[in-house]
Amino acid sequence: MSADVDLTRLSLLLNELRLPAIKQCWSRLAERSDKEGWPAIRLLMALAEHEIAERARRRIERHLAEAKLLAGKTLENFDFNAVPMLSKAQISALCAGDAWLRNGSNLILVGPPGTGKSHLSSAIGLSLIEQGWKVLFARTSELVQRLQVARRELALEAAIHRLERFDLVILDDFAYVTKDQAETSVLFELISARYERRSLLITANQPFGDWNKVFPDPAMTLAAVDRLVHHATILELNVESYRRRSALQNKRKGLGRPAHFATPKNVGVPREEADQ
Ligand code: ADP
Ligand code: MG
Repeated sequence: MSADVDLTRLSLLLNELRLPAIKQCWSRLAERSDKEGWPAIRLLMALAEHEIAERARRRIERHLAEAKLLAGKTLENFDFNAVPMLSKAQISALCAGDAWLRNGSNLILVGPPGTGKSHLSSAIGLSLIEQGWKVLFARTSELVQRLQVARRELALEAAIHRLERFDLVILDDFAYVTKDQAETSVLFELISARYERRSLLITANQPFGDWNKVFPDPAMTLAAVDRLVHHATILELNVESYRRRSALQNKRKGLGRPAHFATPKNVGVPREEADQ
């Protein structure tokens, strides 16, 4: 079949056209096509589809590497029963992405420590990346630090502009930003720059009333909260800490063991709790 084709040149042409997937699979598909007598159009279609699928896979791989998500936190291993006020259907709808990310709307998760805010936000990020969106997960205080360095180097605008390529920036532990970090309030500039254009997902232990310490003055807090909540879905996770609950459950199980397990080693605080 390929007797009168210069294979080295074909390889160079595919490089030149940046078609690495076709380069890798054409000989296998061509052989099959010859054997099964495919019409030429079918072979061409199969090659094109292979290249497109590979590109999508590589793009998602790249986005995943860039996103800095928390390892191992998925929607599959998030126990929705532990947070009854959260609707799984609503989270699934948010994970579909389209509407809110296209509008630059925000998502705000508020609740006490240990209630799964970081887990859920990273899992939502993962789900969105799998559908082709670009996401960045950042601890707010670290991102603020990076932006402050940029401001000192007179490069804040460029740094905020670089974040534009992310459809969603997750600001984890928003209310942990300390007052001195916020003095020049790069955070406010980030919020203003993305307002109504690019989405933010914010997790916070305290509700908005306590965000005064995040911004230099009450007027700025008000302006920031106003922009954040204008187009936002706010989810409250008002449950007991998941960590604490599972530790207590283990403890209960531990105490319910048959007597012959109740050696001094096994009695009392279960390992998970003791590790905390
Ligand atoms: P928060 O960010 O609200 O302080 P985390 O997301 O860090 O809480 O959760 C603390 C730990 O408990 C993490 O290991 C997380 O995976 C786990 N966790 C919390 N909530 C759930 C849940 N509903 N299902 C499964 N694991 C959970
Ligand atoms: Mg957290």
